[in-house]
Amino acid sequence: MVAVDLGPQSHVPLAPLTTLGVGGAARWFLRAVTLHDIQAAVRWAGDRGVPLTVLGGGSNVVIADEGLEGLVLQVALRGCERRTQGDGLILDAAAGEPWDAVVAASVGYGVAGLECLSGIPGSVGGTPVQNVGAYGQEVSRVITRVTAVDRLTGRVVQFGPGDCAFGYRTSRFKTTDRGRYIVTAVQFGLGGGPAGTSYPDVATWLHDHRRDVPTVADVRDAVLAVRRRKGMVVDAADVDTHSAGSFFVNPVVSAAQRDALDARAAEAGKPLVAHPVEGGFKVPAAWLIQLAGFRPGYRMGQAGLSSKHPLAIINVGGASARAIIGLAAHVKRGVIESSGVWLQAEPEVLGCEGNDEAAFLRQTGE
Ligand SMILES: Cc1cc2nc3c(=O)[nH]c(=O)nc-3n(C[C@H](O)[C@H](O)[C@H](O)COP(=O)(O)OP(=O)(O)OC[C@H]3O[C@@H](n4cnc5c(N)ncnc54)[C@H](O)[C@@H]3O)c2cc1C
Repeated sequence: MVAVDLGPQSHVPLAPLTTLGVGGAARWFLRAVTLHDIQAAVRWAGDRGVPLTVLGGGSNVVIADEGLEGLVLQVALRGCERRTQGDGLILDAAAGEPWDAVVAASVGYGVAGLECLSGIPGSVGGTPVQNVGAYGQEVSRVITRVTAVDRLTGRVVQFGPGDCAFGYRTSRFKTTDRGRYIVTAVQFGLGGGPAGTSYPDVATWLHDHRRDVPTVADVRDAVLAVRRRKGMVVDAADVDTHSAGSFFVNPVVSAAQRDALDARAAEAGKPLVAHPVEGGFKVPAAWLIQLAGFRPGYRMGQAGLSSKHPLAIINVGGASARAIIGLAAHVKRGVIESSGVWLQAEPEVLGCEGNDEAAFLRQTGE
């Protein structure tokens, strides 16, 4: 643990701080354990005119092989408090708390709202950034407050859920205000409803295991079992989990595109499940990737697709960021050629200026 008064460390390798395990070193690095550390780090970077990159649990980033200029600030504030409110519970969690520990605690208290988000790696502070979601739940539905440091003023600010511009895997912290706010704490309002069992795989597991009136603990068991089957619970011994989770978000296509995909689905014998959403139809990115001919377990050098889930790009062992990005771009290109859909990367690609494949990954096709 390094206090900011002692100054940041220099040339700290970042790959071990990420689940993908790729990337070079931070020119400067600080692990912030107090609000004061964060505010001092903002001043430190501002005084020197260097960029500041925020890191949480490193489970949704691809860091350039060349490393990152400026200061990398790892948010490691700890603590989680609870109080009852009516039938439910208010949880106040510091941004550096491991996410799954907070989910496990909420399940232990017997309140609903986070149980379907079991087994997701990373920190509490990362969850509002991309509005983490899985198996029918999203954090935006239970977040009651986000506390952050505004880098423009150095002051602490608070956002209600309506101020966060939450959407599918997105928020103001990832879009209009990208990089401006450093989340220090998140408050969740939990309970008051039944456990989430809407997702088919979860419902099937509960049925098969005779959990007829499922509790939140039953749903956590189900979600963890389903996630492990798909390589979506980080496990050092399982190379299929050395990833950033799903590499692409599920795209929303127009009705005409959906019809064209339906026709392709019939030809290929791969039924398409497209859900109507605002602005079109949401199509599973994994389905498009397989339609483009990529099979689970596909390899390109040291990068590959998980053998359990074609949406996860994995570090097979010793991969570079360039290799991971190269495979992601190859898959994206394949999907454009096969179906005309431009997939969007879910993880944040940090650094990589001058890498054409990284630039291509950011393109939207519009
Ligand atoms: C095996 C696996 C499974 C996954 N499954 C899911 C899933 O089911 N659903 C899902 O939504 N995601 C999933 N993910 C992605 C990831 O775990 C989540 O997005 C997670 O919330 C990222 O948190 P983090 O702390 O690791 O963020 P990081 O990877 O460290 O950072 C991600 C982004 O958030 C920013 N950030 C992080 N902390 C802060 C902060 N305190 N303040 C401001 N900005 C911050 C960073 O600057 C960066 O832009 C999965 C990842 C893996 C490896």
